[in-house]
Amino acid sequence: MTTHESPKQMPVQPEHVAGARFLHPARRMVQYISLLIIIVIPLSGLFRIDMEMGGVIMLDHQVWFSDITIVLGMWLFLASLLMISYAMVGSAFCGWMCPQNTASEFANMLTRKLLGRRANMMDLSGDKMQVSVRRQSSLNYILLAIGLIVPAALYALIPLLYFNPPSVIWSFLTFSEVARQTGSLYWIYLIFLALFLIDIAAVRHLLCKNFCFYRVWQQSFQSSESLRVAYDKQRSDDCADCHFCADACFLDIDPRQIQAFDGCVNCGECVTACDVLHNKSKKRSGAGLLTFMHGSHQPLAGTTPLAAFFKRTKKPLLATLAGALLFATGVLTYQTDDFSVYHIAEGSSGQVLDYRINIAHKLLHPTTVRLRVEGLNSSEYQLDRDAVHFDTAGRADVVLHIKPSLSKGLHRIRVLASADDGWSGHFDVTHFSQGKVMDN
Ligand code: SF4
Ligand code: SF4
Repeated sequence: MTTHESPKQMPVQPEHVAGARFLHPARRMVQYISLLIIIVIPLSGLFRIDMEMGGVIMLDHQVWFSDITIVLGMWLFLASLLMISYAMVGSAFCGWMCPQNTASEFANMLTRKLLGRRANMMDLSGDKMQVSVRRQSSLNYILLAIGLIVPAALYALIPLLYFNPPSVIWSFLTFSEVARQTGSLYWIYLIFLALFLIDIAAVRHLLCKNFCFYRVWQQSFQSSESLRVAYDKQRSDDCADCHFCADACFLDIDPRQIQAFDGCVNCGECVTACDVLHNKSKKRSGAGLLTFMHGSHQPLAGTTPLAAFFKRTKKPLLATLAGALLFATGVLTYQTDDFSVYHIAEGSSGQVLDYRINIAHKLLHPTTVRLRVEGLNSSEYQLDRDAVHFDTAGRADVVLHIKPSLSKGLHRIRVLASADDGWSGHFDVTHFSQGKVMDN
């Protein structure tokens, strides 16, 4: 086959190679599912960041950074899963799940369809974009602009979902009065829109290849055992005048000469390309020359027994276990409500008579918290209210006033709180009374 010969023009041989049939559609499926998961996570309430209270929301529960075991356990668990993924399948996360690459591939496909195969939007070599003469029409440019703006506009909503409840996003999308009053969301959205548009329209895979921190972090776990593309050098005669695999690579890597740090994301497009080529070529027989392998000698197929898995993932697996244990401990000791009692500034008489009871409700569901005081007669104190109703998560203050007529000396006071959701707690205060001093 010559470089100008397209695989479509070649006579089809009945011989089939598995990779060509399933790798590409399987990757597309995983990419779309991953994108869906990223959107569903905040929408379902599974995880969202709450800047106002300085924590996160998980399944309608506020998790404060002070709930350290949950927060630490979750991050340790997720980070170690990523390490395991790298130890097992190399950078496949980037090629199979990363929404940045999904959008970039879509943009590549659209650009080539509308402006021709050689129309790369940005090239660090400084070469100009080469638009096919046949496709130089205003309509094509307009369609391309629409095709890039729409995904950028959808992508720009995703970060908002992680910082706002769905109801706020809905009022934002429907231009409701509430959203217009808090117009900052529109500005934030426009900033994200601009960033995603630049990314999808121009930067694309350059971000993955040159600027992604996650890639750098990932490569620190690189080992010779990680999954990689392997090339069958013994049959290199098949490669004469062929560049089909390298052309298929969106990161401009030549899979026949993969180096340790060349940024291959194990997408498998080159494997598929060579398989397709061998499937259709009369001159070439057998499977493609490219395949996925673990280590330097063992092919992937049939070489991933449990023992090999443990060997490759021993350390991160321990971290996963530690993360899961920390997370479980945090969940078991989680308090749906919390409260503290502290004195308000001294009165003019020089003694403390007022205490602030600060109640925090951490569930996004309504509840009523009831207060009781032990250690004093009801005539010796006054609560400005003995029950606080919450419609959703939030904080409220109640003032406990100690009568100045309280007998002189130290008094141990216990404030008890109980909520409809089953939570209860107490807070002890030692109060010193100076005796019958009139409070102003
Ligand atoms: S590896 Fe396959 S696709 Fe790549 S140049 Fe050789 S024959 Fe062509
Ligand atoms: S070399 Fe192959 S597997 Fe690696 S990124 Fe390029 S096309 Fe994907």
